[in-house]
Amino acid sequence: MDNNNNDEVVIIGAGICGLATALALYRKGIKSVVMERSESLRNTTGTSIITWQNGWRALEQLGVAETLRRTAVPIQTEQVVWLNEGKQEESPVNHEFRGLLRKDLINSLYNALPPDTVKFGCQLESIKMDLDTNKPVIRFINGTSITPKVVIGCEGGNSIVANFLNVKPTKLTSLCVVRGLTNYPNGHSFDRKFTRFHKNNIIVGRYQRDDNMVFWFCVHPYIPKDRRNWDDPEVIRRSTMKLLNDFPPEVQSMIEKAESNSLSYIRIRYRTPWDLFMGTFSKGTVTVAGDAMHIMGPFMGQGGSAGLEDTVVLARNMARLGLNGERKITVQGVEEAFKIYVKERRMRVVQLSLQTYLTGLIFGASSSTTKVLYFVLLSVLFRNSNGHIDYDCGVL
Ligand SMILES: Cc1cc2nc3c(=O)[nH]c(=O)nc-3n(C[C@H](O)[C@H](O)[C@H](O)COP(=O)(O)OP(=O)(O)OC[C@H]3O[C@@H](n4cnc5c(N)ncnc54)[C@H](O)[C@@H]3O)c2cc1C
Repeated sequence: MDNNNNDEVVIIGAGICGLATALALYRKGIKSVVMERSESLRNTTGTSIITWQNGWRALEQLGVAETLRRTAVPIQTEQVVWLNEGKQEESPVNHEFRGLLRKDLINSLYNALPPDTVKFGCQLESIKMDLDTNKPVIRFINGTSITPKVVIGCEGGNSIVANFLNVKPTKLTSLCVVRGLTNYPNGHSFDRKFTRFHKNNIIVGRYQRDDNMVFWFCVHPYIPKDRRNWDDPEVIRRSTMKLLNDFPPEVQSMIEKAESNSLSYIRIRYRTPWDLFMGTFSKGTVTVAGDAMHIMGPFMGQGGSAGLEDTVVLARNMARLGLNGERKITVQGVEEAFKIYVKERRMRVVQLSLQTYLTGLIFGASSSTTKVLYFVLLSVLFRNSNGHIDYDCGVL
């Protein structure tokens, strides 16, 4: 068995959450190593994420907010356009709200880490507990294995670490999303607005990164047994344009001119709010964070921010409880820290995922009666629909 004493804290996955966890721990003086299955940093995709005030608070704690703000302009107005009804509404945005290129976020987190923190080409195959040492044994597909003191699974919705914790499998919704970026070399005229166009069961969202670049997404129902090759950007473009042939010309032209390498298609996956409420998210010195814990639909643009919040809470508790007088990791301390981390995060992610789930049900509902029913339920349960943005994950 290959073992390396430096690998006491192992994080699986170098996505947003894995890198942010390593950075949060580093800022608290805890060394970790991140094992990523890809051969290089996954910073080439053109996707973007909306980041609200709660996410920026976490980025502040991680020390990367200022750098990221330089390239992500604030969005000042929310606009909803109902094409069937021919009406629209606008409201001012009273909190920090920006669109971030995923690769900018990944690069900032990665660049703030000490060199060699991330090991590429390391795909986790399995994890089990060594009953003699009570340490987790993690095995990679290249046949190597290590027995670190601590394992934090940040490997997204298909998490092997979450399976080890016996968390119920994630589910697919009846919706899918196409995303892309469109560059307007001579500038666009969309102002600093986040606009959503609704028509039947289709939603197109648009927001700007800067005066030239616009992010957009299109949520639409999944067609069972769809045989199209959604890995081909031109298939994505043609299919989306066909779907939106009665949307305003500015929307169609945005899709037509989108950068090919930015186009992506994904079916929406989620962990149910009740599985989050009931699930066991830590066992000894093993836990999960980010999508591995609470993958949710993109309807409120909160999945990534919730993962960033996790990392601050996790590192804070680990630094407070998981180190001895010589600042060395203690198994008992980390176990206690993870229990508190899960306790602190549970109701936050249950609420976020429930609100997201109900919002998704409204988008996907086939009849207006069910839409109204879900809307009433959502309004009763979440009187302040923006309350989740006020959340503060606290100081690192
Ligand atoms: C369409 C869409 C739109 C979204 N919009 C927003 C938004 O606007 N705002 C927002 O905040 N969030 C948004 N999200 C959610 C956000 O993208 C995710 O919550 C976030 O990317 C999760 O980060 P993560 O690091 O937890 O997981 P991931 O990004 O999935 O990263 C997991 C990493 O683990 C690696 N990995 C996987 N398996 C293994 C293994 N076995 N061994 C080693 N490495 C492994 C992967 O290669 C990857 O690098 C959106 C999601 C979708 C699908």
